[in-house]
Amino acid sequence: MTTRTELLYSGKAKSVYSTDNPDYMIMLFRNDTSAFDGKKVDQLDRKGMVNNKFNAFIMEKLEAAGIPTHFEKCLSDTESLVKRLDMLPIECVVRNVAAGSICRRLGVEEGLTLNPPTFEMFLKDDALGDPMVNEYHIDSFGWATRDQVETAKSLTFRVNDVLKKLFDDAGLLLVDYKLEFGMSKGQLVLGDEFSPDGCRLWDKETRKKMDKDRFRQGLGGVIESYEEVGRRLGINFD
Ligand code: UDP
Repeated sequence: MTTRTELLYSGKAKSVYSTDNPDYMIMLFRNDTSAFDGKKVDQLDRKGMVNNKFNAFIMEKLEAAGIPTHFEKCLSDTESLVKRLDMLPIECVVRNVAAGSICRRLGVEEGLTLNPPTFEMFLKDDALGDPMVNEYHIDSFGWATRDQVETAKSLTFRVNDVLKKLFDDAGLLLVDYKLEFGMSKGQLVLGDEFSPDGCRLWDKETRKKMDKDRFRQGLGGVIESYEEVGRRLGINFD
């Protein structure tokens, strides 16, 4: 039985604990939610459980498609065992449809299809508001090697191939998503989480928002929508 030993890191929605095995950590999904760099916060019933199970389902699909991930197994409703990674301080974003910051930055209309999908990277730095960076910044400042950036980019696009189809089959449009990667024993591995907190999902027919934008924009029914997405994928939350 793997149990938590020490709290290593407490983020806005998850806490990460060490275990008695230095190669593994436990991720605890909490009910906390936040947006706008922590300026809007709330507690949402069932969120920790829903996101833990959602993440497990997606990570297993990605592993099955040959994408290396840190996910090992669920330990409880709200906890998962993961490999310990040395994280790159970079967020990788693929967009199939324009929404969120790209609309603000480039003045494009929400809902515009991006063909081919576009790829962006952001520096993980709350104090700076996670600024967009390019591969030259990352190289010059030594945040990651060129090799790591190339691998992260190609894995992020491979995830798009797998998940676009998965969500499409469930009547959902994968608008955009954010991934984070880290190193484990010389290999670049997908870390962090994949849940409706870190992607945008719209109903294919009605374009209803089913992701964290419901919280950001005060639309209500946040967890109900996450659970609806999960149910359409065949996830059991009971
Ligand atoms: N995202 C995230 N964490 C962040 C920033 C963005 O998970 O710190 C996700 C976000 O949910 C969306 C995608 O990355 O699915 C692109 O986000 P965007 O750049 O549009 O920023 P936002 O509009 O969320 O500020």
